[in-house]
Formats: sequence, C-alpha cells, structure tokens
Amino acid sequence: MILAVDIGGSSTKMGLVEDGRVISRARISTTGHADEHVFVDAIAGTARLMTDGSGAGLDSIGIGAPNANQLSGVIEMAPNLPWKHDVPLAKMVSERLGAPATLGNDANAAALGELRYGAGRGYQDLLVVTLGTGVGSGLIVNGHLVLGSAGNAGELGHTTLVMDGRRCTCGRAGCLEAYVSIRGIRETYADLGGDADVLRTEGVKAIADAARGGEKAARFAFQWTADWLAVALANAVAMTGPGRVVLFGGITRSGDLLMEPLLARFDKVLLNIHKGRVDVVLSALEEDDAALLGAAALTTFRS
Ligand SMILES: [Zn+2]
Repeated sequence: MILAVDIGGSSTKMGLVEDGRVISRARISTTGHADEHVFVDAIAGTARLMTDGSGAGLDSIGIGAPNANQLSGVIEMAPNLPWKHDVPLAKMVSERLGAPATLGNDANAAALGELRYGAGRGYQDLLVVTLGTGVGSGLIVNGHLVLGSAGNAGELGHTTLVMDGRRCTCGRAGCLEAYVSIRGIRETYADLGGDADVLRTEGVKAIADAARGGEKAARFAFQWTADWLAVALANAVAMTGPGRVVLFGGITRSGDLLMEPLLARFDKVLLNIHKGRVDVVLSALEEDDAALLGAAALTTFRS
C-alpha cells in the first residue's frame, strides 16, 4: 500500500493507493502550521488515522509538491508554499512514518500518473503540461522521466514567450506561465477591456461563461491564450518529439473553448516532420485522483 500526498498552495490531499486505485482520501491545510515540522506532524498523524492508527502496512510514500527536487528530496524555495527556505520533506516524512518516501515535482507526478493510469498509457515519449495557478510540465523520453542534471528539467512554464513581457512569479519577465496560467488569462482579459464584474470572480470560469455568451474580450482572451500555448507546445514538440501531449489542470475545464483554437493553431505552427505523429489531448483522469495517483507513481519510478 502506498501513501500518496499532493501538496498544494492552500490544501494538501492525501490518499491510500492500492493496485492503482485510491482506496481512501483525506485533506489537511497546507497553511496555518507554525513551521514545516508541525506540518509534517499533521501529515503523519493523518496517515496513522488512515491506516488503523498505526501507520503499519505502508510500503512506501510518494509526495508531489511544487518546486520539489526529486534528486535531492528537497522542496526548494517554493513561491506558492508557506516555507521560503529549502525543506527536506522526503526525509522528514520518511522518518516520521518509518517507510521510504519519494518526493517529486507535482508536474512530474502528473506526468507519471498519466503514463501509468491515464491518457499516456502505452506511450514511451510523452509531454504532460499542467495549466492552473502555475504552468508545469513533465517529460517522459524513452519511458524515462527526464529530471535533468540538477533535478529541475521540464519547466516549460518558465520558458520565455515574450521578450521583456509580463512579470512572472519566478522574478523574470515574459514567461509562458505569465500568459497561459489562470492569472495570465485574467490579465489578458483585463488588457482586452474585460468586464470588471467578471474579473471580481475567482479563476477563469466566469470568463469562459462570458466567452460562450459571445462577449468579445472573453473570446479573444481564450483565442490568444490558445495561440500562445500552441506555439509553446509546438516548440516543445520540436525539441523533444513526444508521441502525445496531455493537458491537465483547472484551465482545461474550459474544454473546446481552449482546445478548438489551440488545435487549429498547433496544426499551423507544428514542424512538418511531426505532423501526424503527435496529438494533443486532455487528461482522462479525474482531477483529484490524478494528483494522488501521480504521487503514488513517483514511488516506483526510476529516472
Ligand atoms: Zn517565470
């Protein structure tokens, strides 16, 4: 049995995974703990409750988190998490629960989840891109997750899309993430003179609703987002040659509003030699389970 932990900016999902299925779930807050040690206590306490009070029966622990380095087991200065220093989370959780723990970048976990259980099954070369608060990516080449020399490969969200463009959370300017994340779409919509009432709501659902209702600024916001993403994906395909690109995360709930213009532009900008050899699809996994299955898949994966 695997304990899967998915650490997000506000909440941390936990699950017990057996034979590729999530058999029980729990959720704790990521914020509000005095420090990372108290947070790890909360993870361990919840895990014991989930396993009949003892923690026994856990074979391994897989933890997905933003800015997690799979080579070192350390969360490195994550801008969206409460701790602004390096946290050796894999070691801390492993010691507390007495089972080996693997920590991985949440986007890499998503990629492994798709490879094992989702739309990436049967592929040896796969690119998974998560579109949410941030933009992450996980790359599988010849069946292996690409970690890079320092464990930080696959940061498609922080490749530069526009020279001297919008400020990004990483401190640089013009990153893809500043354009095709939730914040990016909202900023584009605002730049296009979008409705102030729509912008008072959270996320992108109200913008999607406005676009479906025919509002021009909202329609253009999705068109531009799709165009930018298509260019970035075509560039990534030219570099890495995946057989499939899987899109995952909150923005993909917009469905055809994003996918129709995206696929049209992708077809136009894709290098000829890749045409007919790669497709772009949405994740087929249920969103909550995908993150947990991905975290579980981290435990058995060797890069
Ligand atoms: Zn950036």
